[in-house]
Amino acid sequence: MQQAQLQAFAEQFAEWNSRVNLVSRADIQHLVERHILHSLLIARAIQFVPGTRVIDVGTGGGFPGLPLAIAFPTTEFLLVDSTAKKVKAVQSMLEAVGVNNAATRWTRAEELHREQRGQFDFATGRAVSTLPEFWALVRPLLHCRSKNAMPNGLLYLKGGDLRTELQGLPNNARTQAWALHPWAAYPFFETKQLVHVTDCPPLPKAVPRV
Ligand code: SAH
Repeated sequence: MQQAQLQAFAEQFAEWNSRVNLVSRADIQHLVERHILHSLLIARAIQFVPGTRVIDVGTGGGFPGLPLAIAFPTTEFLLVDSTAKKVKAVQSMLEAVGVNNAATRWTRAEELHREQRGQFDFATGRAVSTLPEFWALVRPLLHCRSKNAMPNGLLYLKGGDLRTELQGLPNNARTQAWALHPWAAYPFFETKQLVHVTDCPPLPKAVPRV
């Protein structure tokens, strides 16, 4: 089921990309590896529990939110972008592929700060802005009633050197980063990382059974 949906999404995406520039024409050759697989690698770090709410900010053509919505059918996704034609394409792809745990919104994420304050467990993003800027953009949308295996927060896909960006985060933000290459041995992933940012309380340690 999920494999068929991912396949259908890839087909839909290629068609939409020839009309609306969602990813570069050259990059469409690498759709599965650089976009779909890249998005799905978030699932190597966290398996969302049922009922988790995730907002994908600056989703563009649906990355990473749309493949994740297929992978986690009991997680609710809101896919947000400020470009109308991209949101229209994503909405159409969701319907064509039969993904009913994801909704779309055409807006700037700042506009949701009041209306959607504290509504989400996690925010996701890729290639939208610097990490400190993105954290400031999504933090108001999150709450700290964590029910997953890691505290609620941001899951951001980043390339290149992270050090300066990590230094730009507020002092109360804690981070964890995973290199993606061990999970997917394509050269593309050599420089790619997944970063978790949170300022929610650490999870209580599991009490060992005696
Ligand atoms: N995440 C996608 C798209 C990256 S391009 C991917 O990895 O393929 C960045 C996208 O963020 C653009 O589509 C742009 O419209 C959107 N964007 C930038 N700032 C935004 C904001 N403040 N609110 C919502 N969307 C934003």
